[in-house]
Amino acid sequence: MLIILLVVLVILLVFSRGYRAARRVSVPPSPPVMKDNVVNEDHTEKPVTTMQDSDIDHIANISKDALLGHVNPSGDDDFVLIDAAYANRSGMYLRREAYEAFLAMREAALVDGIVLTVLSATRDFQHQKRIWENKWHGRQILHGNILATDIQDPAERALEILRFSAMPGTSRHHWGTDVDLNSLNNSYFESGQGLKVYEWLDANAAGFGFCQPYTHHGQQREGGYEEERWHWSYKPIASIYMKAYKAKVTYDDIRDFAGWETAAPLEVIERFVLDVNKDCH
Ligand SMILES: [Zn+2]
Repeated sequence: MLIILLVVLVILLVFSRGYRAARRVSVPPSPPVMKDNVVNEDHTEKPVTTMQDSDIDHIANISKDALLGHVNPSGDDDFVLIDAAYANRSGMYLRREAYEAFLAMREAALVDGIVLTVLSATRDFQHQKRIWENKWHGRQILHGNILATDIQDPAERALEILRFSAMPGTSRHHWGTDVDLNSLNNSYFESGQGLKVYEWLDANAAGFGFCQPYTHHGQQREGGYEEERWHWSYKPIASIYMKAYKAKVTYDDIRDFAGWETAAPLEVIERFVLDVNKDCH
C-alpha cells in the first residue's frame, strides 16, 4: 500500500513538473506589435523605457483627424484656452502641456524684459482652408504684393503660397503645439526690440521645450517654407505628431480645398511637413 502511494506521488510530481515546463515553453512572450521590448533568455520581458518606445505608443494613439486638423479645441479637454492677456485676441487654444510650457517661458522672458504675445495658436482645418483659399483665389495679396490668381499654373501658384502658408491638413498649427509670436514679419525680428526677442528665444526657448521649425534654409533643412522667426513649436509633443504624420498620412488624405491636386506632385508631405529644422525632429 505504502509503495503504491509512493509511486503515485512520484508520478504526480514528475507530471506536474513536466506540465510547468511545458507551460513555460508554450506561453510565448506577448507579441509586441508596436513595442520593441527585450525578451530575455528566460522568456521574461523587460520593457525598454527609451523615448523611442513611448513615442511609438503615442503615435499609435494619435488619430488621423488630429493630424489633419479635424479637431475641436473648445470641446476637447486636452486643449486649454490661452489667456487673452498673453495674446492679441481671445479664443485661441493650445494643448495643455504646450500652454504650460509657454507660460513658464513667458514668465522667464518677462524677467529679462521680453514680452511674448501669441498671434496664432491652434488652427483647425477650416481655419487653414480660409487662409489658403483667400490666397489661392486672390482675395488676399501674398508677400511681395503677388496675387496668386496672376499665376495660372496650379503647381506654381501653390508653390508661391507655400512659401509662407501651409495647405489645409498639413499645418503644424493643427496639432495644438505651435504658436506664432509677436510679429508675422521676419524684419521685426531683425532690429531693435524684435531682435532682442528673437535672440532671447534663440537662446532660451529650447530650455522650455520649444524649437523653431522654419529656420533659414541651409544645413538644418533643405527646402520647405521660408524662414519664420515667429513660429515656435513645443517639441515634446510636436515631434511625436510629426512622426505620426509620417507614419499615417498619405496624399489621399490631403484634399477638399482649392488646389489640393497639387499636393502630391509637389510632395508637400516630404518637402513641407517633414523638412523642418533638425532641432525639431
Ligand atoms: Zn505659424
